[in-house]
Amino acid sequence: MLDIQNLKKAYTGPQGQIPVLDGVSLRLEAGHSLALMGESGSGKSTLLHLVAGLDQADSGEIHVAGQSIAGLGESARAAFRRSEVAVIFQQFNLIPSLRVADNLAFQARLAGRVDDVWLDRLAQQLGLSELLQRYPEQLSGGQQQRVAVGRALALRPPLILADEPTGNLDESSADEVMTLLLDLVQQAGASLLMVTHSARLAARLDRQVVLKSGLVHGYIDGIIDGSDV
Ligand code: ADP
Ligand code: MG
Repeated sequence: MLDIQNLKKAYTGPQGQIPVLDGVSLRLEAGHSLALMGESGSGKSTLLHLVAGLDQADSGEIHVAGQSIAGLGESARAAFRRSEVAVIFQQFNLIPSLRVADNLAFQARLAGRVDDVWLDRLAQQLGLSELLQRYPEQLSGGQQQRVAVGRALALRPPLILADEPTGNLDESSADEVMTLLLDLVQQAGASLLMVTHSARLAARLDRQVVLKSGLVHGYIDGIIDGSDV
């Protein structure tokens, strides 16, 4: 589903090049979930953005569902972003001027993939049926993130990316959102790549890896494996 080969990315700062990803290779099978851990500044969001087609790598390969992302031109990359991946952000990123119902349908509409029956069912499963006419500012953080989860699932993409999706929530809301996210991803048969600081949340996914010094390492029983994966 997701195949990353020798991915490199550096940013140019005032003191010159800052290497962030130094040859990352990673695979995620269809229908599986992977937690990406690592210290703040280790490059987790950078990696996620590259996979989402939001930014371009310096070198290396990313394949999503057999399609090479690195090789796409700007308009093909925009089409890929619209229809093949959904991203759930820490800050929810809902559209403030749209009601919950329209936020939920937003990406699916852009991709021409709206299914009202599927949307109704999603809203129900996420406990949003009574909130569809509200605006994001009228929701709690946990409710807003449930809308963002629904928006991602409504697209029915093969790959869902989440960048610290529960980082802005208290522990009980975080657990609730995580349970819904994992259940719905599994039901949809999608793959999930999730960035998290929390070893506790990471343990709920199929596999855990750690980004450190520009490389991805295995993480088993709370210990970072020295070898590359
Ligand atoms: P993480 O998500 O693991 O906290 P990031 O991927 O956000 O890490 O950042 C990795 C490193 O790259 C950090 O040192 C950060 O300051 C730097 N960085 C991230 N985005 C940019 C950017 N657009 N321009 C320059 N440096 C950046
Ligand atoms: Mg980050």
